[in-house]
Amino acid sequence: MPDVAECDPLIACNAVRGRMAKAGAGNAGRHVTLVAVTKARNAAAIVPLLEAGQRDFGENRVQEAQEKWPPLEAAHPGVRLHLIGSLQTNKVKDALLAFDVIHTIDRESLVDVIVREQARITALRCREFFLQVNTGAEPQKGGVAPEKAEALLAYCRARGLPVTGLMCVPPAGVSAAPHFALLRTMADRLGLAGLSMGMSGDYETALRFGATHLRIGTALFGSPRI
Ligand SMILES: *Cc1c(COP(=O)(O)O)cnc(C)c1O
Repeated sequence: MPDVAECDPLIACNAVRGRMAKAGAGNAGRHVTLVAVTKARNAAAIVPLLEAGQRDFGENRVQEAQEKWPPLEAAHPGVRLHLIGSLQTNKVKDALLAFDVIHTIDRESLVDVIVREQARITALRCREFFLQVNTGAEPQKGGVAPEKAEALLAYCRARGLPVTGLMCVPPAGVSAAPHFALLRTMADRLGLAGLSMGMSGDYETALRFGATHLRIGTALFGSPRI
């Protein structure tokens, strides 16, 4: 199976979409966005998906996106780029110009810089934001602590930042289900419709808990070769 994914992202993408449909994506009028994660992938791997109509893509580094995407977007209009990696404040301006959606808002100081830069930028691209929640309370990982998410959301809303959902990356090596369940419960309580959760190894589980945005790399492109 990895062979197939590595030589043909398009076949892999159709397989993922088939499994999404079986797992209930799109049921009850719920739209699920497949974000194809293209970090460490080059144009040769990405173009077949663009040609097949895939339009949502995820990158975890601002600079890599800035270098890779302009020519691809010029040739394939309508791309929506999602920032799924942590954002340093000195990269905020570039991120607001390069991405449509930022999934990794996790602290007030970052919100302050975004709000300030937004007001200055004329060609603002990014108009949608997710709060990243550190559901596993892992010290090395980004994300706001679950008990602090409500206050961070209030901080964003008071400043007019349009937060539409929550995002999490569960700890490795444990069942992801309790983390997805927690994120779902939090989103319901906070009145947020978006749930960015589910990666190659657990996206069907994430769909069971109501994921609206799946972030999938390896299942489309094979293991990254660094
Ligand atoms: C790399 C990455 C993904 C994709 O992970 P795969 O297991 O390759 O599907 C999803 N989310 C984030 C935040 C990532 O950094």
